[in-house]
Amino acid sequence: MGENSLYYKYSDFLKKHYYTKVYKLPVNLPVSCPNRIDGSGCTFCSADGTGFEAMASSISVVSQLEHTKEYIHKRYKAEKFIAYFQNYTNTFMPLKQLSDYLEEVRRVDDIVEIDISTRPDCIREDYLDMLSAFSEKTGIPIGIELGLQSANYHTLASIQRGHGLAEYVDSCLRIKRRGFFLCTHVILNLPGDELTDAVETSKLISVLQNDLVKIHSLYIAKGTEMGRLFQRGELAVCSKEEYFRRLRYFLEYLNPDIAIERLFSRIPEKDALFSNWQTSWWKLQDEFTEYMTLNSSFQGKQFNYMNGPALQRFI
Ligand code: SF4
Repeated sequence: MGENSLYYKYSDFLKKHYYTKVYKLPVNLPVSCPNRIDGSGCTFCSADGTGFEAMASSISVVSQLEHTKEYIHKRYKAEKFIAYFQNYTNTFMPLKQLSDYLEEVRRVDDIVEIDISTRPDCIREDYLDMLSAFSEKTGIPIGIELGLQSANYHTLASIQRGHGLAEYVDSCLRIKRRGFFLCTHVILNLPGDELTDAVETSKLISVLQNDLVKIHSLYIAKGTEMGRLFQRGELAVCSKEEYFRRLRYFLEYLNPDIAIERLFSRIPEKDALFSNWQTSWWKLQDEFTEYMTLNSSFQGKQFNYMNGPALQRFI
């Protein structure tokens, strides 16, 4: 985290690792999610999953990457890219199929990393073996993104995550043993959660040595279970001020070495019943920066709870 920064930005993390600007290229694979097949899916998940920016999954991996790469290169003059298997659960397929998709990525130039978004119950040793071997053979680092959303396992049950906290802890330990980048997704204002849940989630993510975290503000997408509850007036989203408070304390308890990919969700307006308190994403960023500055707050301010803090008096 740079001096005078309120938090460790993802762009700084990428510059530290790749010495240049790096952009993520979303790839949409023809996959689903065990939680949608075995259950009815997370209550906030729409039929399209969570990848609103991606191209159709019927288009080949190479074509998706080349197409988006050209656009990003023209617009931002970017030279290096991360292939990002984004939508649904991207290790929920036979091992050979995943291996073939990785090989397809190799046919595209300037890819410096591959990120795979998945669920804690879809991490297994033979898959990790394959990913390790691929990374070793090609020199391409692997990042794994896990959806957790909340450390409160009662909340996980109520949003129908289909996994608990133990599976998350287990998968983090396995991923970190391999030396992959680890990123966790959280939603800080799920119904039923409070400020203390945001703080506990931050502590857990820090203890499990995540490299990155992607923070989402709860949005209500059309056609979801949450959407139905919201329309019937049976679900309320907390105020913007309360979200800022949770976000502030989440950051204060977070290890300052963990980079932040985002602080708020982004969803096209046409897909949402509720999103970001009808405030633009940029305005929210500005308002939150002002709020943090006013409160003399910054990432890691209260990161003093590891390694036997009660024993500090004996030093
Ligand atoms: S794990 Fe992801 S893809 Fe699966 S149901 Fe939940 S939000 Fe949707």
